[in-house]
Amino acid sequence: MSPFEVVTLGNGDAFTERRFNTSFLLRCDGALLAIDCPDRYRAVLKSASEKSGLALRIEEIDDLILTHLHGDHVNGLEAVGFLKALVLKKRLRLWTTPEVAEEIWERRLVASMGRLWDGTAFQSRRLEDYFDLRVLEWDRPNSIGPFEASLRRTIHHIPTCALCVRAGGRTWGYSCDTAWDPSLIEWLSSADLIDHETNHGPAHTAYKHLAALPQDLRSRMRLVHVPDGFDEDAANISVAAEGTARPV
Ligand SMILES: [Zn+2]
Repeated sequence: MSPFEVVTLGNGDAFTERRFNTSFLLRCDGALLAIDCPDRYRAVLKSASEKSGLALRIEEIDDLILTHLHGDHVNGLEAVGFLKALVLKKRLRLWTTPEVAEEIWERRLVASMGRLWDGTAFQSRRLEDYFDLRVLEWDRPNSIGPFEASLRRTIHHIPTCALCVRAGGRTWGYSCDTAWDPSLIEWLSSADLIDHETNHGPAHTAYKHLAALPQDLRSRMRLVHVPDGFDEDAANISVAAEGTARPV
């Protein structure tokens, strides 16, 4: 049995009313690596804990990869940053692309996190007060504990990375948000387990493209970022169920 497993915390899209937004928690030899940080993150962890029987707690998560700045992937980061830095006194190591690193503070978080009232005066705060920012490299594997994360640009509205993460001799591939991209499929195809998005619109992948892939590939693939109306029973690729831990 592989020591590397992926917990699907959510499999929904940005508009869902019945799922959590798509995010994951990777586990290997006791180490954890979170992928993206949606709203109500502690509730997301609690729900997955109850479904999986695993104790998944924010206190134990020290490393998080942020794939891009759309809200359904990043909205939980403000509360997690406050909780980790101010309450738990331990900054989250926030791993992301150079493009996201460039924008995340000045164009996303500063409005709500840049100033704190200490009871007497306003105190200015910087990104470094909350997060230990680590910039990932595009062109080589990035070591994060037992995980080796390789990145690839996707076709999406804003800079977004797909991932191949290797640990325990196995590889997990994640398309992240992307338009249909056969070259990305090729890049992901050597992974032992592949989570691929599907949704509507020009910046997402229509299900019909994935359904036409060879059986060998589909058998290693699960769907995430699915719209609420997606007909799971009619699909020839399974949706990655929320709150399940799958061996990679
Ligand atoms: Zn997106």
